[in-house]
Amino acid sequence: MQRTIQILKQSNNLLVLGHVNPDGDTIGSGLALTLGLKALGKSAVFAIDGEVPEKLLFLLGREKVCQFYDYPRHRYDCVVAVDVSDPARLGRFSQVFEDADSTLVIDHHMSNRGFAMHSMVRECGASGQIVLELLEAMGVQLSSQMADLLFSALYTDTGMFTYQNTDESLLHAAARLRAAGADIQTITEEIYKRRSFGATRLIGRAIERLTLYEGGKIALTYVERGDYQELDAKQEDTDELVNYAREIRGVEVAILLKEAGKNEFKVSLRSMDYVNVAELAGEFSGGGHIHAAGCTLSGTAEECKKRILAAAKKYLK
Ligand code: 5GP
Ligand code: MN
Repeated sequence: MQRTIQILKQSNNLLVLGHVNPDGDTIGSGLALTLGLKALGKSAVFAIDGEVPEKLLFLLGREKVCQFYDYPRHRYDCVVAVDVSDPARLGRFSQVFEDADSTLVIDHHMSNRGFAMHSMVRECGASGQIVLELLEAMGVQLSSQMADLLFSALYTDTGMFTYQNTDESLLHAAARLRAAGADIQTITEEIYKRRSFGATRLIGRAIERLTLYEGGKIALTYVERGDYQELDAKQEDTDELVNYAREIRGVEVAILLKEAGKNEFKVSLRSMDYVNVAELAGEFSGGGHIHAAGCTLSGTAEECKKRILAAAKKYLK
């Protein structure tokens, strides 16, 4: 922590990066850190290779999340990756990161091997918790926007404080954010209780395609590229779909395959109890957490299904 603070304090001109397919934690913790650095009088830019999902736009206020095509291309004293478990998750920014004079990673994924010059990696519910502690230690006065951002980071990475990673220290952090003005009602409404008609129809499609394997211990569903156009849905509308598979009584491993390109499938993995899906994802160069992980597979839909099912089977009791 002290070394991280020293690096941040020494730098005047920083680039903060989140991960591709940005989620509430990378946006919440990355932008809150950026605002905190600005509050300390520094120049800081926040950028992600990927659009901010619509349901998280309300968190930005007047702030901008730069994209690869429009971020200011100058030399930064320090480039900070937040909630990024491996360099590939930086997308096109991975080269920028590699070429930087000074790099820092702030993350909570245990699969993080520490790919920066300095890493602050700790296992906890969300990167937002680490960023909150950093901002507090640096004496940053939290604005209500920073509180909303960090609360959303904690809230989304713990599935609204329902997953096992919701420990006492995370709830204390959430309480401090509430005290700093986090608007829990608006956050819940915007992130979890609003969706487009297309997104709603996509849920129906994914449920229709659910199939059980291994005596009901594995549930699998998939989304094809054509579904988005047909139903007027977006890629980001797939976020919660894997949960319909996970929530079926008796299911231990839930799998969602999303067609991402020609012969390319992004896989979301969830487990209920004992299967370590981070290890399963690791077999395909992916990663994540014990109960939530992901990877990318190449091949036709049938080939990818077969490969992930065969691999998942080995983990069942
Ligand atoms: P999701 O299924 O929601 O996309 O991802 C679940 C978890 O797995 C997240 O914590 C995310 O960080 C991790 N994850 C998803 N895809 C990948 C991947 O391709 N590589 C790695 N290392 N982690 C991933
Ligand atoms: Mn996270």
